Formats: sequence, C-alpha cells, structure tokens
Amino acid sequence: MQTILLATRNRKKLAELQDLLSGTTAACRFVTIDDVAVRVPEVEEDGATFVENARKKALVLAAASGLLTLADDSGLSVDALAGAPGVRSARFGGEPCDDARNNALLLARMEGVRERGAQFHCVLALADPAGRCETVAGICRGTLLESRCGAEGFGYDPLFVPEGYRESFAVLGAAHKQCISHRAVALRKALDLWLRDGRFCFAGDCG
Ligand code: IMP
Repeated sequence: MQTILLATRNRKKLAELQDLLSGTTAACRFVTIDDVAVRVPEVEEDGATFVENARKKALVLAAASGLLTLADDSGLSVDALAGAPGVRSARFGGEPCDDARNNALLLARMEGVRERGAQFHCVLALADPAGRCETVAGICRGTLLESRCGAEGFGYDPLFVPEGYRESFAVLGAAHKQCISHRAVALRKALDLWLRDGRFCFAGDCG
C-alpha cells in the first residue's frame, strides 16, 4: 500500500487534513512526522511566498523520510495591511508561535480600520524523495471581527468570518469550516490532480 507523509507539526492542521482525507477514495496509508522512524529536520519557513515554503517543507521532508510527502503552508492576508501577516502568520506576534498573541496583535493593528477584508491561503505541495514537486492553492475570503469570538479551531479562526456567513470559523465549528476553508479548497484540487485509482501520483504521470 502506498504511504504518504503528512508533513506538518501543527496538530490542528494535521487533524483537519486527516479528517478531509478520511472522506476520500485514497487507498493509502497516511503517516505523520511522529510516525517516521528517521529523524526529520526542522524546516525553517523563510520563503517569501506560501508556495516557496510549502515546496521547501515537502522537498526536505520527502528527502529525509524517503516517502512521498504532502506539506501545507498557510496563513492569513489582510487587505488593509498590504497582505500581512501572510507568510509570517504563525509568528506574527513573536516566537514561539502563540495564537492568542497573534490575534491580539492583529486586533491592535486593525483598531479603527473600517476596511476589514482578508483571506486565508493554503498551498499544498506534493514532493517525492527524488526532488519532484507540484503545488495547488486554495483561498477562503472573509472579514475580520473587532474582537475574538468562539472557541473552536485554531490560529485566527476566532477573528475570521468567511464570506456568506455571519459568524467566525471558531463559532461555526469544524463541520462548516471543513466544507469551505482554504485547506478544503486546496485539498479538493489536490485530489482532483494527484489521486488516481486511490493512489497519489504527479499530474504529469497520472495519465
Ligand atoms: P504555517 O503554515 O505552519 O506556517 O502556519 C500557518 C499559520 O497561519 C497558523 O499558525 C495560523 O496562525 C494561521 N492559519 C493557517 N490556517 C489557519 C486556519 O485554518 N485557521 C486559522 N488560522 C490559520
């Protein structure tokens, strides 16, 4: 059976990916970084774009593990902040990553700002140990609240109201989020492109 490494250390993102994948026809075994016997390196997310970071994570971890690897890089881009926090979403409020601090800083930067449009981005990269890599992207547009609302999800979910809804991702909960999120959109594209007869393959090889 084909084994795919899901290359994220973020437990909440991992849970969302595993949940989304469980509803598919993929006949593969999905393993996490913790399941891999070899020591895999920490990957510094120093790229200027989500695509660069997702590619880097997927390629480094595929080479280290010897497995076909699916990596995700994601974040929030705020219109009024010229796309910030963007690729710095996880460390916006400083190191180490702290969701409450990130949300507090975002609220401070957005104080008194009327234009509150924003979008979540997710790039998924599929890489093999030989150095091949392909990517797909998904976005989810919405607006930012003026204070946190809701307890579900992670990251900026308490501040983000997706387009067409009145409540934040953290209030709407997993069932709604998993239908419309940037990660769900990217994963649907990924499965369309890379899943053939239950196995993952690069678009050029899928035939
Ligand atoms: P990275 O992809 O590990 O670099 O980190 C992504 C960061 O973007 C997370 O730490 C969150 O702050 C934010 N983020 C990404 N996806 C989501 C989401 O689905 N909900 C809320 N915040 C998210």
